[in-house]
Amino acid sequence: MLVSAKEMLNKAREGKYAVGQFNINNLEWTKAILLTAQELQSPVILGVSEGAGKYMCGYKTVVGMVKGMIEELGITVPVALHLDHGTFEGAKACINAGFSSIMFDGSHYPIEENIEKTTTLVHACDVLGLSLEAEVGAIGGEEDGVIGSGECADPNECKMIADLGVTMLAAGIGNIHGKYPENWPGLSFETLAAVKEKVGDMPLVLHGGTGIPEDMIKKAISLGVAKINVNTECQLSFQAATRKYIEEGKDLQGKGFDPRKLLAPGFEAIKATVKEKMELFGSVGKA
Ligand SMILES: [Zn+2]
Repeated sequence: MLVSAKEMLNKAREGKYAVGQFNINNLEWTKAILLTAQELQSPVILGVSEGAGKYMCGYKTVVGMVKGMIEELGITVPVALHLDHGTFEGAKACINAGFSSIMFDGSHYPIEENIEKTTTLVHACDVLGLSLEAEVGAIGGEEDGVIGSGECADPNECKMIADLGVTMLAAGIGNIHGKYPENWPGLSFETLAAVKEKVGDMPLVLHGGTGIPEDMIKKAISLGVAKINVNTECQLSFQAATRKYIEEGKDLQGKGFDPRKLLAPGFEAIKATVKEKMELFGSVGKA
């Protein structure tokens, strides 16, 4: 079922676990994530960046693919289809296309403008029963060509945005998109605790879930993180499995060139990564 992320995240926050957001790029990615969620009876959030949306021929194509797949694969666990780091225009386009959840990333605007644009989207999402994620304090690393550097959000600004009525809040706590550098100082739990104190029960979102040590993930969940975004890690496991298949010359044997065979090891690798994350986040059996 395609649903808003609100209920699954409130349950996660209360139950002290987190729901994974796994970004999709194509049919194989989507199928691997949905099947794993169903097998493990876990709620799941499918993330779509604006770049990936364009790559998949637009948001309507994405909605059609995901809805069709949920029906034809017999997926019964809660699935949210979520715009990741949306612009204001992108958010409006995804609302119109039938997404069930939206992230508006106004973190690069002055706080007044972030508040104004987020407020408009709170109303638009409320009318349709969609969940809305807002961001305060830019998250480091590269996302669709935008590079930042592991900032920490201002807890007072977090409260201002949370009070607008968003469903969930992404606050920078030293996390970074992509691979973490050797000299990364780790998550700022002081910032996380200070944000939590200001925003109360609102589910918090941890971006850049690839490569954060397990003990830090668990501590973040205990401090109110209820949604964790994973993107790069699925890309890396897909790449490694595909490279192995080619390097072993399997594409040259028999019908090994058949795309359904060529993409199968990468597909299985994504499934394994998603399973590992759902187990770590504690969402298995929570559907
Ligand atoms: Zn992110």
